Amino acid sequence: MTGQLFISLLNPGIDLLFAAAFVWMWRERRERYIAYAAAAYFCSAVAFLIQDVAPALPMELQRIPANLGFLLTGVFFAAAIIKRYALPVPWRAMAITGAISMACFLWFLLGHPSISARIYAISIGAGLIASMVVRALWPVAKPFLIDKLIFWVAGLSAVNLIVRPVVLLSLRGGFDSYVGFQQSLYWTTVQFSQAMVSIVAAICLTVAVAIDMVRQLRVEANADDLSGLLNRRGFEANATTALRRAADGDNSIALLIADLDHFKDVNDRHGHAAGDTIIAAFGAHVRQLGPADMVAGRIGGEEFAILLPGASIEVARQLAEIIRIGFPTSCAEHIPPSLVPTTSIGITAGRANEGLSELLRQADQALYEAKRAGRNRVRAFSPMPVRLAAGGG
Ligand code: GH3
Ligand code: MG
Ligand code: MG
Repeated sequence: MTGQLFISLLNPGIDLLFAAAFVWMWRERRERYIAYAAAAYFCSAVAFLIQDVAPALPMELQRIPANLGFLLTGVFFAAAIIKRYALPVPWRAMAITGAISMACFLWFLLGHPSISARIYAISIGAGLIASMVVRALWPVAKPFLIDKLIFWVAGLSAVNLIVRPVVLLSLRGGFDSYVGFQQSLYWTTVQFSQAMVSIVAAICLTVAVAIDMVRQLRVEANADDLSGLLNRRGFEANATTALRRAADGDNSIALLIADLDHFKDVNDRHGHAAGDTIIAAFGAHVRQLGPADMVAGRIGGEEFAILLPGASIEVARQLAEIIRIGFPTSCAEHIPPSLVPTTSIGITAGRANEGLSELLRQADQALYEAKRAGRNRVRAFSPMPVRLAAGGG
């Protein structure tokens, strides 16, 4: 294998490996941005193969699919990164930039031949597409190192694509022939710098996919599928974090515990599926009514806890009452009319530094009072009155 051929196979080889890796990741996790990354690496591999290894068309004409492939690589790569942040992909702007770039390329291929002008047309077009990633990600928070890395890789690609041809061509001058071009310092630099960018970008995206997978697993491990709220573990973890945050600001905090009434009877008379429907409806009802900063979870079979950072006992009482009163209506369309579910709710409020277990104990005691008083009601925790020791004796 000649040195030149080895260099020529470097990019398609690396790109095909990464394309396969992203296809595999996409099969595991059907996220569109992973599919775009696979498409980008596949286009890049094909473009480099057409350009350097296996000419499919007469020398001049094969430049057309090769350069179209390079532009498509840029487009899919930009789409992959922007989509990862759930931002709108600027397909139109990318298509227009790509079309202008390709039109200039065709003009300098067929109308007014110039290898250097064609290099500018494609490289600057791809650079402008990379700069759209920079523009899209600019206002986005970048809390983790990987987010900063992705942003900088996009920025460096844009600069590399726009500045590289200008600098190298001004140093070297233009090209008279394709043979000269392919053996030039310029093309060798493109191949090596592109291989480096491909590797760094693929590593960044692979790490991003891994981080997203771990995040997703963590969310799933803390979620309760039936109610759409947190499960007990998720509630405890999130509530502890919220309490710690509230304790720093010495804020008040309130806790509600709701337990559905006579639920064993509901299951016995209407079936377990009807019971499940009610649990799901209660979860949706809480999600709809609760404030955005609440921590809400199903902490037992038909028992729910809602932590309200910054709330007083009065705020907790108001929320508890609207949840209780609206509950039968929220289920009505999913269950038989003869079934009217109700809930009892215990509430408490205190300082965040009292700790979660103490707040749970207090709300549980209030819930017990609500059940004892006849169910379908809200009760607030009140400490047992301290008996004064009888004087004399
Ligand atoms: P109370 O008013 O005192 O709370 O009476 P209850 O019948 O609701 O209380 P109990 O604790 O005796 O029964 C709770 C029932 O909740 C028993 C169980 O069958 C039912 N349950 C627990 N988890 C689920 C669930 O995920 N789905 C359904 N359908 N039922 C559940
Ligand atoms: Mg119950
Ligand atoms: Mg219960």
